[in-house]
Amino acid sequence: MTTTYSSNKALFKELAALLTGQLFFPEDTAYEPVRQLWNGKVATRPSVIVRCLCTEDVIYTVRWLRAHGLPLSVRGAGHDFAGRALSENGVVIDCSQMRGVIIDPDKRTAQIQAGVTAGDLMEVAEKYGLATTTGTISSVGMAGFTLGGGYNSLMGAYGLAADNLLSAQVVTADGHLVTANANENPDLLWGLRGGGGNFGVVVSLEYRLHPLTTVLSGMLLYPKEQARTVLHRFNEFIATVPDELTIQSGFIQTPDGSTVLFLSPTYCGLLSSGEQVIAPLRNFGTLLVDRVQPVTYNALIHALDAIVPKGRHYYIQTRSINALQNETIETLIEQGLPFSSPFSMISIHNFHGAASRVGVSETAFALRQDHFMLELIAAWEPQSAKEEQQHIQWSQNISRSLAPYAFKGGYINLLDRQEQERVPLAFGSNYECLLKLKRRYDPDNIFRSTIGHVTP
Ligand SMILES: Cc1cc2nc3c(=O)[nH]c(=O)nc-3n(C[C@H](O)[C@H](O)[C@H](O)COP(=O)(O)OP(=O)(O)OC[C@H]3O[C@@H](n4cnc5c(N)ncnc54)[C@H](O)[C@@H]3O)c2cc1C
Repeated sequence: MTTTYSSNKALFKELAALLTGQLFFPEDTAYEPVRQLWNGKVATRPSVIVRCLCTEDVIYTVRWLRAHGLPLSVRGAGHDFAGRALSENGVVIDCSQMRGVIIDPDKRTAQIQAGVTAGDLMEVAEKYGLATTTGTISSVGMAGFTLGGGYNSLMGAYGLAADNLLSAQVVTADGHLVTANANENPDLLWGLRGGGGNFGVVVSLEYRLHPLTTVLSGMLLYPKEQARTVLHRFNEFIATVPDELTIQSGFIQTPDGSTVLFLSPTYCGLLSSGEQVIAPLRNFGTLLVDRVQPVTYNALIHALDAIVPKGRHYYIQTRSINALQNETIETLIEQGLPFSSPFSMISIHNFHGAASRVGVSETAFALRQDHFMLELIAAWEPQSAKEEQQHIQWSQNISRSLAPYAFKGGYINLLDRQEQERVPLAFGSNYECLLKLKRRYDPDNIFRSTIGHVTP
């Protein structure tokens, strides 16, 4: 079908009549604010945005789009760097307003809807003294985050977000609502745990929660001139840390214009023991700033929101490596610094502990060994195309130099649309099982504008 249907509002009237939610067309004033994702660089213009407010809206929309042969994409909270929630001239099933959270304090579980963010979940869970692995920034959507895996500072103790997913309800390609848990459709639950958005629209997700309110966390800043020494010591130290300690590290520019190395430990065990455990991190060099202190986990995930504001332009490349060896450290320092823009940053996630102990074939997420995931994040205010290209190249050049030392695949949530060839490599030995699942749940490949796309 050709894509002239945006002008054909009459066709969509039939769908609008079935929904409690609303439709937005390019000619509507509200279209642009509704279309915008977190990454202001994403210029993709869908023909129609279907804002769903409940499960029935999603079911009717999937069935109706199937019946009319229209291409679709699915939006959770809209945080994907690459903007896969939108497809050019397609129809968006927009779940961003489905924000319900229900906590069961006795069972220690959370039931959330498809548009819930890390901040939404923690705002409610905190009241019960509970938490789970969420995005490190409060506005990251739980749905996409979990479907891709879900790294953060609690994963050493609790595993990936995907490891905490107990159950989900999914509207599959044929418009049916199915439950995926340990008893019903366990193969689908396996696929949802890190296998991307291949199998349908996930309308609700149930998570295991853990007793946690306060963590020991914050930033330790070191001068970039000491980065080599500090990173080498950090690389040795990291092999010895307990599950309760997960450390993010990297380079940022401070407001006074200097580039610094940061180590950001998060300790989620007994706070009295935490001080002792993180003490060596303070002696890797000459500390410029020490802001590590007890903080609620909920406050922690809001702490960095301001440095990655919605609407700025972003581009990311990622590489996953097994250790911070000399070549990697040299590449980061020699090629990464100085940044091409004051807003850019390099962030390194430390994957270990509970996340590493899950077997490769237990979930779709396959990279189950201790590693570092390096994010090369270019960020800039809107500029000319030529200047934008410089920032993109900064990220791509470092990524290319790191490639020989990195695992072949990577982290599907953060791969660019142009990096589809890395997806099967990221799934490794789980790829064949994912293909079978895709053929079963979405044989016509209607969910193709997705993280971790698997072609049936
Ligand atoms: C500032 C920032 C910080 C981040 N921090 C982290 C981090 O700490 N750790 C980490 O692991 N990742 C992080 N990410 C990456 C993040 O996990 C992904 O971008 C994730 O896809 C966001 O989920 P979303 O629902 O907001 O995505 P959206 O942009 O809404 O959707 C992206 C894709 O996810 C799938 N999807 C989303 N919702 C559904 C659904 N309900 N049903 C089916 N498919 C769906 C679809 O394929 C969709 O195309 C971060 C991203 C940003 C921009």
